[in-house]
Order: sequence, then structure tokens, then C-alpha cells
Amino acid sequence: MTMPALMQNYARVDVAFEHGEGAWLTATDGRRYLDFGAGIAVNALGHAHPRLVEVLREQAAKVWHTSNLYRVPGQEQVAATLVANTFADSVYFCSTGLEANEAAMKMARKVFHDAGAPERDRFVVAGGAFHGRSFASIAAGGNPKHMEGYGTPMDAFDRVAFGNMNEARQAVGERTCAVLVEPVQGEGGIRPAPVGYLRALREMCDEYGLLLILDEVQTGIGRTGTLFAYEHAGVSPDILTAAKGLGGGFPVGAVLATERCARAFTAGAHGTTFGGNPLAMAVAQAVLDEVLAPGFLDRVARVGAYLGDALTRVVADYPKVLTETRGIGLMRGLVCTVPNGDVITACRDQGLLLVPASDNVARLLPPLIIDTAEADLAIESLRAACATLAK
Ligand SMILES: *Cc1c(COP(=O)(O)O)cnc(C)c1O
Repeated sequence: MTMPALMQNYARVDVAFEHGEGAWLTATDGRRYLDFGAGIAVNALGHAHPRLVEVLREQAAKVWHTSNLYRVPGQEQVAATLVANTFADSVYFCSTGLEANEAAMKMARKVFHDAGAPERDRFVVAGGAFHGRSFASIAAGGNPKHMEGYGTPMDAFDRVAFGNMNEARQAVGERTCAVLVEPVQGEGGIRPAPVGYLRALREMCDEYGLLLILDEVQTGIGRTGTLFAYEHAGVSPDILTAAKGLGGGFPVGAVLATERCARAFTAGAHGTTFGGNPLAMAVAQAVLDEVLAPGFLDRVARVGAYLGDALTRVVADYPKVLTETRGIGLMRGLVCTVPNGDVITACRDQGLLLVPASDNVARLLPPLIIDTAEADLAIESLRAACATLAK
């Protein structure tokens, strides 16, 4: 057998999509699917959103890329929008989630370096976390499957059970600079932080002079019914990372920071070639304009709650297939009794796309534009899939 031209580092499903519209995708064989995966929480406004198509076309005819050697007006505009609507005083742009986390961790270390405490270079992180696939972020995530084969892990992380404040307090040492957590663990299986956890972490960070970094790569940009998930907790981080939904499908990541932290990124301290290029910024601004439009986030919260209630009923009706549902807004998980892959395949056969996660979870991450009718259709397909599996 000859080597496929394409590397085989993904276990891909044998389906390819030809076009999409809203929450719907049409495969190359003509079959239509309701997309409740949204490219893993990326297509926040669904597929082929008219406004996104328009701004991307417009920008494509002007200038694609100039590098960060020059001012990029789109970056200034998107940054101002994020600053106006969050805790942040300043924003850095990159292209992916792991890059945002890498930059956030470098920033945290540099804050302490610049304050005369360069020995503070360790991070308290949570079990079940996911922060990306770089050397630093696989070590931060600590998933053995992601680390195996890649040699000595970066030694900068002290892991505690997600939600456990006793362990968090015990993990803090002389060398700790920051706590890094997701408000709702995504890849870990849609595990929301227990009520009070983020607030307690904030208080602990204040007590010990540590920075709180929230990885909102998956939870951000409206996914949980607020622009960022930290808003539910009533406390804000020092540094926050975003990516997935921010570009609505165009690769873009961001680090949001308080003034104190952002000051660490002096000229030359960090950088990237592609980050925040004019195409990415045109789309990101349009995504934010839509998500921040009056009523949009309220609708996400309302449809999300509706979907959550419906999922609770499905779980109750099919205990042989599903154990539990959890999540918030349009970030929902189904803990499966049978293997999660079986549920996802059965749903796909019914025309519904879901995404797997750890903890034997099937994730529902629909575009934020879905209405209750589309939620009903998804529930119908899920019920049909469960009925097949329960036999
Ligand atoms: C997807 C994800 C990442 C990694 O993002 P990439 O763009 O794949 O590098 C990091 N953190 C969280 C919480 C994620 O969900």
C-alpha cells in the first residue's frame, strides 16, 4: 500500500461537505445534516452567513496581509470592541487557541519577571483540561494521550482536581505565577466549574498575588449565553484567551488582558506573522457586531435553556443510552451509557452532527443562530438515534 498523500493524524469520518447555510451542511453526496458541532464551536454564526461572506469578500479585494510590521486598523477596531465589552484593557491577536494560551502563559511569566520575581514561573492547572497541542499546552492539559511519544513534558504545571479549592490552595507555592482554567471544560466533557469555584480561585489569586488566566477558547464569543463565560461567575480574570468562535470559521485567536498584564508585552516581547491579519479582523469585527447586537445573547441563553430542558427529558427517557446531560447556553454535553462514538454515529445516520469529548461525552455545540425549531429537529434526531441504540 502506498502512503496517502495526506497525513493520517486524524480518525476522520468518511463524509465531506460541499456547502452550508445557517445550521445546515450539505455533503458531497447531497445528504443534508443539521450541524450541532459547528466545526467544534467555531462557526458561531453558522455557515455562509451573508454578512460574514460580504465583509470577507470586501476585504479580500483590498488587502489580505501586511504583517505586524505595520499598523493594522482592523486590529485596533476589534481590540477596541473587545475592551469596550469585557474586563480587558488591551488585546493581542494570533491565529489559534493554542497560540493564545502560549501567549497568555508567556505574558504571565513576564509580568513576574518584570516585577522582579522571575522565579515565579509555574502554573496551577486543572485535571481534565485542554489547552491545545503545543509542547506547553499538552503539558498544561496533562492528557497522557496527547503527551505520549513526545518526550520530556515541559515542567511548569501543578495539576489539581477541577473544582477542588483545597487542592488548588495546596498547589500554590513560591514559584506559582498563575492559575489557568477553563470556565467550562470543553474537550474534557462539558464540565462546568462548580458554582463559586471561579470566585474562590479569584480570591485565592488575590490573596497570594497570582494571576488568573481563563481559557475561553471554547466558552467565549457567546457560547454560554454571555459574551464570555466568566460573566456568569461575577468575577473577572487578569488574562483571557479566545479563538474558536471569534472568527466564525476564519482562524483567529486573541489574548485579552488587564493593563498590568498587557504592559509585559513590550515591543518585541512576543509576536506572530499571521496573527490579526486584515481578513481575520474584518470577519472578527462582523462576528462581534452580530453577537453584541441587542437581543442576540439573550436569545442564545433562551434557546440554550430550551435545548438543555429537552436534553434532560431525552436522558430520562433513554437511560440505557444516556446517563446525564450538563452544560450551559449552547454548550451542552451528553454523558453516554453506551460508547459516545455509537451515539454520535447513530445521530449522524439521523442527519445530526455532534462532537465527541472525553468522559464518554457527546457534545452539542450548535451555531449560536439556531432557533427552537432547529433545537426541536435536533432533539427529534437524537431521540430516533437513542431508540435505535436502546434496542
Ligand atoms: C480548542 C481549544 C484549544 C485549542 O485551540 P486550537 O485552535 O486548536 O489550538 C484550547 N483551549 C480550549 C479550551 C479549546 O477548546
